[in-house]
Amino acid sequence: MGHLTPFLRLAASLVHQKCRVTVLTIHPSVSHAESQLISRFFSAFPQVTQKHFPLLPVDPSTAKSDDPFWLQREAIRRSAYLLSPLLSSFSPPLSALIYDKFLVSPLIPISTSLSLPGYIFFTSSARMCSLFASLSTTVADKISSGSYHLSDHLEIPVIPPIPVSSIPPLFLNPNSIFATIFKEDSREVLKSNGILINTFEMLEQDSLDALNDGRVRKGLPPVYAIGPLEPCEFENGERGSPLKWLNDQPAGSVVYVSFGSRTARSMEQIREIGHGLVRSGCRFLWVVKTKEVDRDEEEDLHEVLGHELMQKIQGKGLVVKHWVDQSEILGHKAVGGFLSHSGWNSSMEAAYHGVRMLAWPQHGDQKINAEVVEMSGLGLWVRSWGWGQEVVVKGEEIGEKIKEMMESESSSLLRVQAARVGEEARKAVGVCGNSETTLKELIQEWNDID
Ligand code: UDP
Ligand code: UDP
Repeated sequence: MGHLTPFLRLAASLVHQKCRVTVLTIHPSVSHAESQLISRFFSAFPQVTQKHFPLLPVDPSTAKSDDPFWLQREAIRRSAYLLSPLLSSFSPPLSALIYDKFLVSPLIPISTSLSLPGYIFFTSSARMCSLFASLSTTVADKISSGSYHLSDHLEIPVIPPIPVSSIPPLFLNPNSIFATIFKEDSREVLKSNGILINTFEMLEQDSLDALNDGRVRKGLPPVYAIGPLEPCEFENGERGSPLKWLNDQPAGSVVYVSFGSRTARSMEQIREIGHGLVRSGCRFLWVVKTKEVDRDEEEDLHEVLGHELMQKIQGKGLVVKHWVDQSEILGHKAVGGFLSHSGWNSSMEAAYHGVRMLAWPQHGDQKINAEVVEMSGLGLWVRSWGWGQEVVVKGEEIGEKIKEMMESESSSLLRVQAARVGEEARKAVGVCGNSETTLKELIQEWNDID
């Protein structure tokens, strides 16, 4: 969902700018959430053409992972060479091809051979993009040869420098397929026509400048900040209990807790979070997730939380174990804070709604995103909590930090800063804002090619 949602929001923006849009989709999707979002999108935008892209099967042993999302990603990468005839069959012909950051090496040769301008849509932060763009250089060799210590910083000209302890742990394992693919894609990135990022200038000015003036990597194509991509009406499913419950809560009083669409927490950690929320004394709306893929969720909330914790929670907050409309929740006036894994979409949604965050990165790009959240004043990050699986953080500590975000003296400063980030975010995508203008200029370039 962290890739699909921003892609569909981008497609919606392009439609609003009068572009003719085709979306290539994969069937079946891994999660329910994906298939429902795809069908809601096409119902809302009948003018968008849907093309189905059939995938070759992948043998999990050759993909070196049993993560279903990763296997799907591998299947797409390995099938991508079949796209050529499909892409060249369009009438009128395509003006541009926009593809995910994990499809760089498979799609560059195709867009080149079809003389089709190809753009990477990088669905993470500009700071993470700087790391990605640097990975084909000596930095990557140093990472894979183990020359860095966790306390070192990378020699990449982003401010402040990226600590080695923040980079995705899989990068530090030179044998991981993840590290190999990232390095390969990083080498090819110079051959694309541009990189689109769901960010905005005020939030990531330094990283965007370093990317665009050649400091991160000489010869990098233009980087376009087009965010925050605005949440759309089609994303809203059935409006269920969370919104009804929020309507009865005082303004700014609720902390919303979610770790994204594919991060399951251990039973032990889930119960500590529950105790922490109760201890914080704040009202809360908490989305519990015990399985990476929503289709695999079996236990009900009572089984997961246990009788004692269920009792303690009564009257203090709402706990759910299903998909919620996160952007609607973050936009609700009752929500004052967000305990999040700092997935990039979640961070951008918090920025868009001006909601302060407590970042608790779990894996992948999330520590680098947490740095952006912290630097911009949008939120706090407790470094000692480490990566998701590293330690079990105790409820007492979680409760204290939530209180600090929601109620301490410094929390009002945080609230003001987050509100300011929210104002800038709206300005960026509003009429004549930087991101809106950037997208319009890009569309104009495509029109000029035609
Ligand atoms: N999301 C949602 N409801 C949920 C869980 C997630 O709407 O119950 C959305 C969230 O708003 C965001 C996306 O799923 O748009 C998650 O993307 P993110 O990059 O934050 O994290 P990921 O799921 O990729 O780890
Ligand atoms: N992964 C894996 N084995 C590998 C490499 C990656 O299982 O060798 C999975 C793992 O679940 C990891 C994900 O792929 O978390 C990559 O996700 P990340 O959050 O870094 O990228 P994103 O989805 O945000 O682009």
